[in-house]
Amino acid sequence: MQAAVIAIHGGAGTITRAAMDAAREREYIEALQHVLQAGQRILADGGSALDAVTEAVRLLEECPLFNAGKGAVLTHAGTYELDAAVMDGATLDAGAVACVTRLRNPVLAARAVLEHSEHVLFAGAGAEAFAQARGLELVEPEYYFTQARHDQWQRARANAGMALLDHDAAALAAQQARGTEPIDPDSKFGTVGAVACDSRGNLAAATSTGGVTNKQVGRVGDTPLIGAGCYADDVAAVSATGTGEMFIRTVAAHDVAAQMRYAGVSLEEAARRVVMEKLPAIQGRGGLIAVDRAGNVTLPFNTEGMYRGFARVGEAVDVSIYG
Ligand code: ASP
Repeated sequence: MQAAVIAIHGGAGTITRAAMDAAREREYIEALQHVLQAGQRILADGGSALDAVTEAVRLLEECPLFNAGKGAVLTHAGTYELDAAVMDGATLDAGAVACVTRLRNPVLAARAVLEHSEHVLFAGAGAEAFAQARGLELVEPEYYFTQARHDQWQRARANAGMALLDHDAAALAAQQARGTEPIDPDSKFGTVGAVACDSRGNLAAATSTGGVTNKQVGRVGDTPLIGAGCYADDVAAVSATGTGEMFIRTVAAHDVAAQMRYAGVSLEEAARRVVMEKLPAIQGRGGLIAVDRAGNVTLPFNTEGMYRGFARVGEAVDVSIYG
């Protein structure tokens, strides 16, 4: 019997104690704990890693604090375009959706693609039609709306029109409220993700996002691209958050598993190289969560903070925000 474990993230970026009030911090911590406990229960009951990560990401999509599902960020045009992916390490089955605008839970659509399609990635209207045919819930764009993301988008538009990582946009708001300098224009994120190792030693990963605030319409990041923002095989499961373009260019999630498989590198060292060396070399900012089949967990990031946590079956959940 394997010591089953689940890890989750709620995005990385300019997340500092100074920009966070105590009530807000509590909200994030409680939300992360709640999601980890749900994943932990699935694993404790003998559920699969695939089921645990799908449910964890669905719950994160339902929570308006995070940039996925309800609470997603806006495009430059003020619309919502969501991406998600899920991968089963035991079989290398994968499913993903990109640029969807009407799905309540993009991760469930990704899971439906994994289970019920010969294809891996569906985009736009075709993804929505596929999900609808599988009985998944469609919503009006207003469903995703939160005042906080709307205000963030307006500030990002006002700030030279740059695209911002969700939590960097939040920091920008706090700094502007205090009348201090705005954030470095290159720093920007807020995606959600989960990775798990179940009691049979099988691995799975899932990632879901609204993308970066003020992104161009039609832009797709790393999240729905297998190997970039989401990957699982029989060596490691990885879910990423950060400046998507750089995670695509470094094939970040797959790189962690590849280093372990071909170079015998440990999970922790492989993830560290990606996050602390390969990504920064091309100005990539963010982090990732990863587990291996021995149940090791690593949660590295190169930003000020990353909403993150992990839970082993039978043990207390462990949640952190800052570096
Ligand atoms: N990686 C996501 C993207 O580029 C953004 C994020 O992690 O917040 O779409």
